[in-house]
Formats: sequence, C-alpha cells, structure tokens
Amino acid sequence: MEQHDPAAIFAAQTRYSPQRRLGFGLKERRAALIALRDAVIARQDEIAAAIAADFNRPLTETLVIDVMPLVQEIGHTRKQLRGWMRPRRVWPSLGMLGTSAKVVAEPRGVCLVIGAWNFPFLLTLGPLASALAAGNSVVVKPSELAPASSALMARMLADLFPPELVQVVEGGVEVTGTLLALPFDHIFFTGSPKVGKIVMAAAAKTLASVTLELGGKSPVIIGPGADLAKAAKWVAWGKFFNTGQTCVAPDHVFVHESVEAAFTTALRAEVVRLFGRNPGTSPDFGRVVNARNWQRVTGLLDAAVADGAEVIAGGERDAATRFLAPTVLVKTTEAMAISQEEIFGPVLPIIPFADLAEVIARINRGEKPLALYVFEKARVADRIVAETSSGSVGVNLVVMPFIHPNLPFGGVGNSGQGSAHGLAGFRAFSHEKAVMTNRFSLLFLLFPPYGGRVKRLSKLLIALFR
Ligand code: NAD
Repeated sequence: MEQHDPAAIFAAQTRYSPQRRLGFGLKERRAALIALRDAVIARQDEIAAAIAADFNRPLTETLVIDVMPLVQEIGHTRKQLRGWMRPRRVWPSLGMLGTSAKVVAEPRGVCLVIGAWNFPFLLTLGPLASALAAGNSVVVKPSELAPASSALMARMLADLFPPELVQVVEGGVEVTGTLLALPFDHIFFTGSPKVGKIVMAAAAKTLASVTLELGGKSPVIIGPGADLAKAAKWVAWGKFFNTGQTCVAPDHVFVHESVEAAFTTALRAEVVRLFGRNPGTSPDFGRVVNARNWQRVTGLLDAAVADGAEVIAGGERDAATRFLAPTVLVKTTEAMAISQEEIFGPVLPIIPFADLAEVIARINRGEKPLALYVFEKARVADRIVAETSSGSVGVNLVVMPFIHPNLPFGGVGNSGQGSAHGLAGFRAFSHEKAVMTNRFSLLFLLFPPYGGRVKRLSKLLIALFR
C-alpha cells in the first residue's frame, strides 16, 4: 500500500479549487465519468477477482450486484448531467415582481468519500461519480476490510485522475480519523450507524455537510394476501446473496400465521434451488468477510438458540473458512440480541403475527429501518407505507429500490441522512445557490422611515399574501 499524507492531499485539492471551478464544466465532468465507466468495464474481471480475494464472493455475483449497478449509475449520471447542471429558473411571487431568480448547482468543493467493504466498488465509486458530476475534488477512502478491492481502486483511480481531482487514501480507523479532522466541504459516509455518529461528530467541528448511508434492521412483512412463491423467491435471494452482508437485505420476516407454514416450506425449497443441498460446496454462495464478523453472526445465532429459538434450515458452519450456511430461524423473541442488532449475515428469523397493527407498532418501536419490504395486495402495502417510516419501501420485491436510478436512496434517522444515486447523488454533492436579480422591484417602498405609506402597503401585502 502506497502511503499518502492526507493533509498534503487535502491542501493540494484545496489549492486546485479555483482552477477546478473554472475549468471543470460539463465537458470535463462527462469525460471524467466516461473514463471511470470505461475503466470499470475494462477491469470488471479484475474487480470480481479482488472481491473474491477479499471475501470469496462468487465472480458472477460481483458482475450482477457491484459492476452492473455501478455502470448503470455512471451511465445514467453522464446522460442526465446536462439537465441537472442547468440553472433552474424560478417564478417570482407577487411580492417579488420585478425580479428574476434561479437556482445554480455549485460544487461543494473538496469532498471525502468513505466507502464500506460489502459492495466495495459500487458504494465507493458510485458516490465518486456523483461527486465528480457535481464538479468536486474528492478524497476516496475505501474500506480496509476489503484490502484487495481497496488496492485495486487506488491503482485504477491513480491511472485515471490527477491527485488534485481524485486521490485514494488507503487505511483503517486511524487514517479515517486523520481524514475526518480535515475541514472537508462534504463528507459522504457509508457504514454502520455507530461509526456514522463518529463521522457526524467530526463533521460538526468544521460544519462540513454530511451524507450518511447507514444500516439497521430492514423487515419484511408477508401478509395473507401475498403471492408466497414470489415472496420466497425474492426473500431467499435478497437475504442470502453476498452471504447476507447487504445493507438493504431483509433482516427478518414477519409472516401472517395463516401462511407461515406455506411460506417457510417455499423459502426452504428456494434456498435449496439457489445454493443446493450443501451450500458449503456451492460456487454461488460466499463467505463471511472476516473472523470477527463470523463470530458476531454465529454468536447472535447461538445466543438465540440457547434462549429457545429453533433452526429450521441451515446452521452448518466452519470457522476456518468463515462459512455459515443460509440459516432460517424461528421462535425468536423481541428481547433477544438477534432481534435488536442488525444481523448482517446469512441468518433469517421468521416471526409469525396475527394482527398487522402489532407488526406496525413493533417496527415503530424500533429504529427507523433503511428498507422495508411488503408482500401483499396494494391496499395493505399502502397502509404500511402510510403508518411506518423507513428509507425506502419495496412492494412484492426486495433490494431493487436501491438500484433504481430515478429513486433517491438513503436512510432516515438511525439508518442515515441525505440521499444518494442519480439526481439525489448529484444534489448531495452540490450546493443549491439561490441567485436573485433586481430588475424593477418596488420592494424599497417598504424601507424606513416607517410612515403611514409603509404601514398601509405592508397591511395590503399581508392581506394579498394570505
Ligand atoms: P463500518 O462502519 O465498520 O466501517 C465503514 C468505514 O468506517 C470504513 O471505511 C472504516 O475504515 C471506517 N471506520 C470504522 N471504524 C471507525 C472509527 N472508529 N472511526 C473512524 N472511522 C471508522 O461499516 P462496515 O463494517 O464497513 O459496513 C457494515 C455496515 O454498513 C452495516 O451497518 C451496513 O448496513 C452498513 N451499510 C450501509 C450501506 C448504505 O448504503 N446505507 C451500504 C453498505 C453498508
């Protein structure tokens, strides 16, 4: 790993700012996006190999869930950029007659992107694309928990961009701490709520703006009106691809008691269809990222079982290879740690319910989820959308709101702050500057001295503005 001094990089990017402001327009930003896109496409197999080296993710899975959405995100941004960058004229209100006004998107300046390891390229280069589209310089800090991916990103981006525009800084907690002490204009962080709080506290010292893409427990609700075969197909895939290490993976399932048996049967069959009867030998099932996380997830599982939960599928494990089979768990209670902490691994608790109101109340008692999924008729889904708060909602599917380029992606409360992707990503890295020009405004008639005329005029305007 090549060492870079964060403070020197920050200073170089800051010094470059006046030039960047003048010389990094639509044409140059598009060229940067095309260069990034082409490098990702050209090096897709290297990317897949790096992630396989980091946590044994199947090569094709990386093409499907890291490279494909990333290329879509960059391509969409490139195509829409002209429209997003165009100043937006706004109409004057009655009182503003005689003026014109527009909203100009200006780059925030020098930005810091801190990536997570679980989708190392998508979650690091995706925000980078938004930051470049918005015209910023960027320091990129990939996660140290995916070291091969981090090293590949450092090489790739060094080949593509001058360091005053984009520079990768590799390293762990200490390096992140050094970066966070610098007065960046914007910090875009993807990771856990726990570290999100550290990032926000650091940003408070310099009043840097933040986008926090965090995690949490994303529930699935399966009602009596659900298409159970469809629900089982989506839940099995959404939970167990990437070995359950997906921020928007279903964390647990609430299923109506009248369809619980039918759903669990369909779910188990679906897991076998995806990964065979022995997932340990399946080339399509990955491994837990490191020993610490393997111990954490198996620890949550074992503690639940010790307290009365039952494994009805999976449970096989191997510490040496960090393998944990796709595991389905029943009879958990709300007090268990597995019901409180984000699982972030291949264990899926199934919780039967009789009354939807109870499920809604339980969701509303907890932290606001990053994603919430419903398998039911539209009327029931609409009720859940109206009565709960979450970053996103998927109806009769999971995970996909994350990939839709025209939807903002982000959490709320404990699951995050601000949004990414497409236009939302462009806006996250832009300051919307209000520009107003006086043409023949009569507003000066309201200036002092406050004689009878100002009083009459202000009363008239108050009446008109109602
Ligand atoms: P993490 O919070 O442990 O690490 C994320 C980044 O923070 C890394 O780059 C790491 O170097 C840095 N970091 C860790 N500890 C730090 C500290 N004490 N001080 C400063 N920096 C520190 O998260 P992770 O393990 O990489 O990812 C798992 C979490 O991320 C889960 O909660 C998951 O739901 C969430 N996540 C969210 C999204 C999203 O888009 N919302 C995407 C992926 C993961």
